[in-house]
Amino acid sequence: MTPSRAAIKITIIYMVIGLVWILFSDRALELLVDDPATMMRMQTLKGWAYVLVTGVLFGLLAWTMLRKQRELHDFDTLTGLLNWYMFREAVDAQLQSAKLNNQQLGVAVINLDGFRQLNSQIGQRAGDALLQHVAGSIRSSFPTHATLGRVAADEFCIALRGDDIQRQIIDLIDRLQTELQPSLSHLQTTDAKQSVSCSAGIAVFPQDARQPKELITAANLALAEAKEKGQGHVCTYRQAYSDNVSRRATLVRDLANTLSRQSNPATTADASKTNPLYLAYQPQFSDPKGKMTSVEVLLRWAHPLHGNISPDTFIELAEQEGFIGKLTDYVCRTAVEELGTSGLLDTLDYVSINVSAHDINSATASEDFARRFEHDAATKQLVEAGKIQLEITETSVMQDKQQALHLLQMLKKRGYRISVDDFGTGYSSLSVISRLPVDELKIDRSFVTHLREDSNDYLIVRTIIAMAHALDLQVVAEGLENDAQLLLLQNLRCDKLQGYLLGRPVPLAQLKALHGTGHTST
Ligand code: C2E
Ligand code: CA
Ligand code: CA
Repeated sequence: MTPSRAAIKITIIYMVIGLVWILFSDRALELLVDDPATMMRMQTLKGWAYVLVTGVLFGLLAWTMLRKQRELHDFDTLTGLLNWYMFREAVDAQLQSAKLNNQQLGVAVINLDGFRQLNSQIGQRAGDALLQHVAGSIRSSFPTHATLGRVAADEFCIALRGDDIQRQIIDLIDRLQTELQPSLSHLQTTDAKQSVSCSAGIAVFPQDARQPKELITAANLALAEAKEKGQGHVCTYRQAYSDNVSRRATLVRDLANTLSRQSNPATTADASKTNPLYLAYQPQFSDPKGKMTSVEVLLRWAHPLHGNISPDTFIELAEQEGFIGKLTDYVCRTAVEELGTSGLLDTLDYVSINVSAHDINSATASEDFARRFEHDAATKQLVEAGKIQLEITETSVMQDKQQALHLLQMLKKRGYRISVDDFGTGYSSLSVISRLPVDELKIDRSFVTHLREDSNDYLIVRTIIAMAHALDLQVVAEGLENDAQLLLLQNLRCDKLQGYLLGRPVPLAQLKALHGTGHTST
């Protein structure tokens, strides 16, 4: 209930009671008492009674409203479990108790497998019901003293104290898996016949981490490892760590070495033969039958032993190891140099470069980034001419809206175009986006993949486009793979299109060869 509605409700209740009291209490007294002196005394008592009754009533109403407000703040409204903030607070308290009582504290992060896809098939209402079922199953599977939270759309967290806690949690999650199946089967429509399972990661205090934040991070790392193994896996931090640590260490070392050895930008057709770390460019089209109007720059790493490493993997490594700035600098310089010398930059509206949240997460980082990027007069001119667009993910923008507003304003003032990448996944509100100085929203690929006229994703995409146009923003759809998606997006008046259907990410030489021919793939 909004504050104004709550206030109106309290006022109306007060006025109704006041009116009833005024209308009927005097009449009742007149019927009951004849003596004027007694009447006077009764009138005074009546006044006191009125103050008492309305006082209690006010207290009651205020208490109800405040409790409701607190619940909304502390609990996830859909499932009644703790929200992310409160769960972290609760883990903090649990950790203190565990330390005092010499106990272990286990934290498990449980993720529903394939929830996003299932949700788009069965609809949001059924999706919500499914989440409520899962929450109910978690409640009944875990002991009452366990701390339970829902920390993201399809992610639940559990903290439990005790001895041999890892074994206990694994057994409890096993029980949860079997409980999930029958209880959820009725939620599945004929369209959504996949089974529902969950994956989980577990970390334990004191052996895996000693601080609440680290404990939750360790459980999340274990969850990522479990997800990598497929659906329905449970992984402990220890396992994940020992499986991963040597491969991770090798990749980090190789990436750092490759970056420092990186020679001049490649110009040969097979760029990966010259430079293991090279750029691919994916074209974007305003008109799919016309020429490309802009490109997105995507970094590639062809590891000499392990083959192509996904950017999702190595970008995260560089972020965690603190050298993402160097990697971003390399991408920016190489892109400007390659596109500039080939003459392509003149023919494009702009070039879109992915920047990590770490590159711009503070005023100093943003200024450093801009200073390094605009290292010569020519590049500075490109920025001022609006030829450089920075893609920043919606989730990183939403982490600290105030800070984001400030930093984006600063970058915008210098001339950068700003695109909000993976839009639709970060739960941002219209009011937040309208305050940010952005030029473009980039609809997340997951919405495009399942785009059908009767799907929820279609409604979401339609809403995003309408909203963006109302705010005078451009919309780009990425991940376009078939003609049906193309037709729907064109009908919805999506401004720009990008995807394998129109062109895969290719090295510069191929991009140059294909420029002018329209599509880069057929
Ligand atoms: P992103 O920015 O969302 O990039 C789009 C991803 O979707 C790219 O994957 C691209 O190859 C892929 N893609 C494009 N069209 C299609 C399609 O039609 N179908 C499918 N299935 N996929 C399509 P990629 O290159 O593996 O990059 C993954 C992520 O890695 C990027 O997601 C971005 O977050 C990050 N990344 C890549 N290069 C850089 C970089 O230079 N700097 C930073 N900070 N991040 C980068
Ligand atoms: Ca991007
Ligand atoms: Ca994206």
